[in-house]
Amino acid sequence: MEGNNSMFVPTTRRRFFGAAGGALAAGTALQAGATAGHETEPVDYYEKLGVRKIVNAAGTYTFLTAAVMPPQVRAAVNQAAKHPVRLEELQTKAGEYLAKRLRCEAALVTAGAASALTLGMAACITRGNEDSIKAIPNSMQGLKNEVIVQKTHRYEYDHALRNCGIEFVTVETMDDYQRAFNERTVMCHYFNAAQESPISREDWIRVAHSHNVPCFNDAAADVPPISNLWNYTAMGFDLVTFSGGKGIRGPQNAGLLLGRKDLIEAAARNNNPNSNTVGRGMKVAKEQIVGMVAAVDWFLSQTDAGMEAEFRRTAERIAAHVRGVPTLTTTIAVPPVANHVPHLLLKYDPARVKIEPKEVARQLREGDPPIELNPFTGRNGDKDLPSDENTIVVGVWMLQPGEELIVARRLKEVLSHAASA
Ligand SMILES: *Cc1c(COP(=O)(O)O)cnc(C)c1O
Repeated sequence: MEGNNSMFVPTTRRRFFGAAGGALAAGTALQAGATAGHETEPVDYYEKLGVRKIVNAAGTYTFLTAAVMPPQVRAAVNQAAKHPVRLEELQTKAGEYLAKRLRCEAALVTAGAASALTLGMAACITRGNEDSIKAIPNSMQGLKNEVIVQKTHRYEYDHALRNCGIEFVTVETMDDYQRAFNERTVMCHYFNAAQESPISREDWIRVAHSHNVPCFNDAAADVPPISNLWNYTAMGFDLVTFSGGKGIRGPQNAGLLLGRKDLIEAAARNNNPNSNTVGRGMKVAKEQIVGMVAAVDWFLSQTDAGMEAEFRRTAERIAAHVRGVPTLTTTIAVPPVANHVPHLLLKYDPARVKIEPKEVARQLREGDPPIELNPFTGRNGDKDLPSDENTIVVGVWMLQPGEELIVARRLKEVLSHAASA
């Protein structure tokens, strides 16, 4: 329990039990808290469940629970948990507030970007036709159900749109695109961080609008820069989504659907608390709706330069620590669109440092505390990062203060050991 873990477990728990004298005092505090409405010392359920806390040197990956909320956001979540409210009123007021702050007509807090895709899609199909809300996704007679998308924009979130009963019409050239429209066309979808986009955002919007068809931009992982939160709606996209739990650092089960008022209203009609809807299972609880709003407030209080400088400093601190490893070189690289923040890349000669990056990742994952490196470690980063089979990638932006040293020490230990083997 002590040892390495004590480096990143807050000391308050120990201090509390130490000062108050253990379990008996905890029980007393609990009772006092329940009657007087005071906060009680929280139980660490990760510990109780035997779930290992990780050091996230990867990034905002869903399978690693994405971001950790900043203290202000956690406090807002905690505060919201204390009172019941009317869910629809909270959804509406949160949306109005976000629309103002994010300079768009309307907004809805969804259960993540994937939910926003489903609700926005449902909105495009069902707007002006209340009966169709119940009909989708498997009674599509008389409903528009074709979504036009560039071939290079087909991705692992297709299913979020297909949940509404649509079919994709895939295009490659501007000519294909022009010809793809017909009376069943319901939406034109854009994947903001696609590696190739033969048709630009501006052209995509212009052509769709000339056919009176709405455009949706999935920009889930595409902040920073902060201004992306309004750039794409300003550009003319009718709907835009951002994940709440990635760069914005809100709750992982929250996201933003931003855009045209009539479409956001239609999305809300396909959402809970309405029961017979595609969005009924996509509830965002009051705590997370408030958390999403607080996270946007927090994110808008940051600056791109400030965040970039912080991540660079973190990367440089790790780089400085491992620099003595033979043949090792360090670079800092920023992916172009998604996860557009400094990442640290370590390259070395595998003939001299006899360990593969993937094996380094495995050893860090199995160490104490477990450290997760960026999944581009030991892989070709394609157009996102200049990584390859001989590169270790450290995603620094989700590290908590002080954790960069834990990562640096472990990397140095594993690499030095391999260099002396
Ligand atoms: C992460 C991601 C999503 C899903 O976001 P959630 O908030 O986890 O639902 C959708 N689209 C893209 C491009 C993403 O990167």
